[in-house]
Amino acid sequence: MELIQFAILGLGLGAVYAVLAESVVVVYKGSGVLNFAAGAQAMLGAFLFYRLRDDYEIPGVLALAITLLAMGAVGAVTYQLVIRPLRSAPATSRLVATLAVMTLMLQVVDMTWAKGGTVLSVRSPFPETQLTIASSISVTADRLLFVLTGILACFVLVMIERHTRLGLATRAVAENRLVAASMGWSPDAIGNLTWASGAALAAVAGILTAPLSGLSTGTLTFLVVPALAAALTGGFRSLPLTLAGGLMIGIAQSELTRYVSTPGWGTAAPLLLVVVVLTVRGSNLPSQDDVSERRPSVGSGRVGWPAVAGFAAALTLIVAAPVSALDSITATLLLTIILLSIVIVTGYSGQLSLAQMTIAGLGAYFTAVLSIEADVPTALAIPLAVALCIPVSLLIGIVAARSRGASLAISTLGLAVAIDALVIANPQRLSALVGQQIGPLAVGELRLDAVNHPTAFAVLVLLVVTVIAVVMSNLRRGATGRRLLAVRANERAAASLGVSVVSVKIYAFCLAACVAAGAGALMEARVETTDLTGFTVFGSITAILNTTIGGVGWVSGALVGTTGAPGTVQAQILTGDGSGGSGWMVLIGAFVVLVIILCSPDGISALISAQATTLRQRLHMTHRHQLTPLALESTLGSPAVRPPVTLTAKAVGVRFGGVAALDDIDIVLTTGEIVGVIGPNGAGKSTLIDTLSGFRRPNSGRVILNGKDVTRLGPAARTHHGLVRSFQQLELFEDLTVMENVRLAADHTPWWRYATDLLRPANRPPSTQVLSVITACGLNAVTDRLPRELDYGRRHLLSIARACASDASLILLDEPAAGLQGADRARLGQLLRDLTRNWGVGLLLVEHDIDLVFRTCDRVIVMDFGRIIASGPPAEVRLDARVIEAYLGKTEISVDSVSVRKAGEE
Ligand code: ADP
Ligand code: MG
Repeated sequence: MELIQFAILGLGLGAVYAVLAESVVVVYKGSGVLNFAAGAQAMLGAFLFYRLRDDYEIPGVLALAITLLAMGAVGAVTYQLVIRPLRSAPATSRLVATLAVMTLMLQVVDMTWAKGGTVLSVRSPFPETQLTIASSISVTADRLLFVLTGILACFVLVMIERHTRLGLATRAVAENRLVAASMGWSPDAIGNLTWASGAALAAVAGILTAPLSGLSTGTLTFLVVPALAAALTGGFRSLPLTLAGGLMIGIAQSELTRYVSTPGWGTAAPLLLVVVVLTVRGSNLPSQDDVSERRPSVGSGRVGWPAVAGFAAALTLIVAAPVSALDSITATLLLTIILLSIVIVTGYSGQLSLAQMTIAGLGAYFTAVLSIEADVPTALAIPLAVALCIPVSLLIGIVAARSRGASLAISTLGLAVAIDALVIANPQRLSALVGQQIGPLAVGELRLDAVNHPTAFAVLVLLVVTVIAVVMSNLRRGATGRRLLAVRANERAAASLGVSVVSVKIYAFCLAACVAAGAGALMEARVETTDLTGFTVFGSITAILNTTIGGVGWVSGALVGTTGAPGTVQAQILTGDGSGGSGWMVLIGAFVVLVIILCSPDGISALISAQATTLRQRLHMTHRHQLTPLALESTLGSPAVRPPVTLTAKAVGVRFGGVAALDDIDIVLTTGEIVGVIGPNGAGKSTLIDTLSGFRRPNSGRVILNGKDVTRLGPAARTHHGLVRSFQQLELFEDLTVMENVRLAADHTPWWRYATDLLRPANRPPSTQVLSVITACGLNAVTDRLPRELDYGRRHLLSIARACASDASLILLDEPAAGLQGADRARLGQLLRDLTRNWGVGLLLVEHDIDLVFRTCDRVIVMDFGRIIASGPPAEVRLDARVIEAYLGKTEISVDSVSVRKAGEE
């Protein structure tokens, strides 16, 4: 009975989650943006409504109408000013933009209507009559009406979607903007409409929630977290499933609150469940990387004189500053450390983490526990606390490794909220700690506590910042940094060159977590009294925004980024008073983020660096970075013959739904031979390469590499067994230079390099192998260019160079000659022959240029409809009747022209 009673109680909240989740789904479908600001819209709507109804005594229905109209306008304006201009920006930028919009709304309401942050209780818009369902089960009428509202909203939306032209156009726009445009709907009209209706729907959710939770900015804004979880259960697609998900989360929370005595599980458990589902359903590699996305620029990692001067200035400032000013200096430096952790995880490795402040909070929590409950000296408690955070960060890293984009943001946010509810904001867990004293920080006789020795503490924190900054610069310059950037640029390509994408991501998360936890521990040691209220989930979001302002790819960006935060030195200077800024700083910060994302997504540090470079060039202090002359060899010299390897595919089958992309394929490839694969588009050639190289697991059959069954191994592991591939879609690392692209393939990075690179980056000059491949591909003159600056042919050659520069014994090339003209085509033919003859590489050559295939290959395999229809020496295959019929039939003319040309040549 009680079980049912609590389920019914949970239904009310569940319905609210569902309505907000539906708003998220509508916006996602109509504009492709994950709206983190949905909760803030709900909050704004709720404040507006109850203010109109209760303070201005406007009748409820009228107040509702005004609220919905106003919020619709807010939604449309948000779309016009923020989302539309970011149409082609990276998904991460758009996410950060919605976070900024959320912060902006939250701050505006906080500073106007919600002064003091008190939670107002409001009367439900629906009658609250008690209804008795059974003897011990009763419910207020308004809860039932909440559920009805949720169902009604879902029903109306589904009807619009299924049965109106607008719904059809919205579905079309999600697939393809051009299709929608051809139907007479401008994508912008749809964007405006979905954002307007999304905001109005969110407002409904807010109005319904306020009677349950009270009118509070924070609670309502973070309603977005369970709503995102509910939207996920519907796959951001199905509205009925979203409704069910929302109701279920509400019920689960209600039951957990009743039956689990530890507070926090009610909030945490449903989120953890969603995270688990996301992790299980996720994949280690994306199916196709969005290579067109431009990532924020990263610093060079060189420690120059400005950095040294900065350190000296900071040290002087600390020693000379009056004690009263030290507080803000220390605060600035500690915040810098947290922002540095974001530079590692989000800037260098491209993973949006919304949990950094929560991890800092964990560091603080462990420090307090160790110091207070275990009597560990503070100087020891800090590193121990950092160590204790590693398992947690490992968990976050594993979750992150299996998701990307929107689901990564939701996973990290979900984990942050869960950790917050279970530990950092958990009154039960903290009851023995809050307000308790932590021992003053001292190492032997050296007193470093901030209370009595603020200068010493400030110097300590400055040293910590410096060490972390130097370590990060080392990381950036070394082979490990190249791997991080490669994963950020293109996960599939990184995996194809032997980079274990999962390890790299976990590494980045762990390193960043250690840095953040260290900051949290130091913050705790600084105040000497347990207080975890500063480590909010919202703090992680403002930290992301601040880092974006400073420059998320730059070590200096972390320091610059602290300008946007209250309590820092810059805030003191900017606001000109002792308070160090407060709400205004956050408000202005959110605004600046929007401007920065819209105008120059790289942040202030990137702007400064660009200016400095221009200035130096003006002053003729540096010449444009000169290329080291490359060893010019027309053929691949240094016959470093590769070890013999054999690749065998046995009865391999791959199905996509009903389509058999590969059907019972048997193939053998060994070192020293070139095997050509030809066949019409859709024959299964690319799928064959995907399957052989570990990008696709076959539905049946086995892949054997040098006698070892590798069917279940991923691409990186197969690379270590001597197999490398290229991609039909090139999949270049767009923000690495040509040289870096190629070098990455030849980097030998044993696991311990992950540690040693932090202290001393291994950065040997490129090997002769790399140089000769670059020469052979005609890329000498462009080694320090970015791929996007190259013409189509060069981009193709770069993708080939990258595959060939590794030590692989077997290379699978997917249409390497596509887009190559005369001389480049000849160069490719020469390269392929040199690879096999001089280096003993075995090549699988998928190619449409039959001329090239018949000229260079030892054997040719012809595929059609996923089957091998002929194979053998070129001369035989060419005359095979089935081949001429099935494949060459279509291109008979070109075969003729080939033979005509051949005849002409001879
Ligand atoms: P090819 O490279 O020879 O042009 P592919 O290997 O790309 O051919 O495709 C073979 C078949 O498998 C085609 O019918 C294609 O539509 C289908 N296919 C390939 N990749 C996918 C996928 N990810 N999902 C569904 N079908 C796919
Ligand atoms: Mg293909």
